[in-house]
Amino acid sequence: MILPCSAGISSYMHLCLSTMSFNELGLSPELLRALKPKTYPAPTPVQREFIPVALTGQDIWVTAPTGSGKTAAYALPLIEILSKSHLNLTLASGRQQKAVQSLILVPTRELAIQVGQTFMSLSAHLGKNCKVTIVFGGVSINPQMMGLRGGTDILIATPGRLLDLLDHNALKLSQVQTLVLDEADKLLELGFQDELRQILASLPHQRQNLFLSATRPKSIEALAQSLLHNPHEIHIQGETAQPAVIVQRAIYTDTSKRTQLLKHLFKTEQLKQVLVFVATQHASEIVAAKLRVAGIAAEPFHGQLSQGKRQQVLADFKLHRVKVVLATDLAARGLDIEKLPTVVNFDLPRSAVDYTHRIGRTGRAGEPGLAISFVCPETLHHWNLIEKKHNVKLEQETIEGFEATQAVPEQAPGNGGIKGRRPSKKDKLRQLAASSKPA
Ligand code: AMP
Repeated sequence: MILPCSAGISSYMHLCLSTMSFNELGLSPELLRALKPKTYPAPTPVQREFIPVALTGQDIWVTAPTGSGKTAAYALPLIEILSKSHLNLTLASGRQQKAVQSLILVPTRELAIQVGQTFMSLSAHLGKNCKVTIVFGGVSINPQMMGLRGGTDILIATPGRLLDLLDHNALKLSQVQTLVLDEADKLLELGFQDELRQILASLPHQRQNLFLSATRPKSIEALAQSLLHNPHEIHIQGETAQPAVIVQRAIYTDTSKRTQLLKHLFKTEQLKQVLVFVATQHASEIVAAKLRVAGIAAEPFHGQLSQGKRQQVLADFKLHRVKVVLATDLAARGLDIEKLPTVVNFDLPRSAVDYTHRIGRTGRAGEPGLAISFVCPETLHHWNLIEKKHNVKLEQETIEGFEATQAVPEQAPGNGGIKGRRPSKKDKLRQLAASSKPA
């Protein structure tokens, strides 16, 4: 049965909520009281199946789309188990120096904050008996080290910062009872394999593993199989679990015309929410400023911005107050926005792999995403290599008034800049010899 609409619940949830109640899932009355009916009227399918199994301590492998209520699905049983274990000890005094009871690994700082807020609101009734700590990179490590001194019950962490904290001896993972990998596919997509390997090596063998992912590529299957013991598997079909359809376009123009072209496309193609990739922080600032002068709400997004400023840009982008975000590849890792309608490669990515990551930011369920790449005479060889690696050949569009007029420079020896196959020393020597030959 579909419940009537009420404020604050996503439309996806409306389709999935059932008449089953949270009372039937084995949660204690205290925790049930923490579930505000306005926010959590009834369990979602993933919560229905996940919570009772998680309470038994079994490993779980979930494939469910983002927005299916998975955070509360694992937060509720973890809080339940924690409150029971504290009952046996003298409450907060049972916590050991630097020890962590439940470790939740997430790919981005934004998700870390979001998950942390869910835990804090659902465990508020436990007061000091449920300590939730959130750690992520890009901010000073000292307050995080201080915060971990007395140990923590729930630690939500991004992998890089967690390793930094381990290096500083700020925490110990030998007592972790439950490990949650949230958005495991994204953790791998962002290249955290090595960090995960190191973190897993620091955990005790005996523990519960909760593994959540929106997609199930081969790399995820391999990781899950290496990690999980006799897992209970949950598959929730949903709109975002469908493979995305991405329309790719290449527009051929001069380097100097790209900002004008971006403004032109924004207006003529009525682009609504655009993530633009640029190569440098400087470009991110300059192009954003030029778009703003043209009346387009644009903001830079790069590593030199404060955490507060990045949060603000992200929030404004999600709310459509900012229409265009100009991001460097590194900063864009923290841009956790699902289902973007459009991405633009203002500067081409360094590698074919980066190209896949960038365009993967777009693609709505049931609605195609759009990925536009600006190709210029100077980057044509590089673009050809990206296409070759992807086994595609896009038609190169030209837009009236923005046609390329510069000549294509002669191809440099080597690979034209594709990451991983840079010109070798020999290539460089040959290049030098060629350039010093008399005419
Ligand atoms: P998640 O998939 O964890 O990112 O959750 C997506 C959204 O659904 C969040 O805003 C949650 O607050 C909300 N949510 C989670 N569980 C429920 C529920 N049982 N009923 C309604 N909304 C929920």
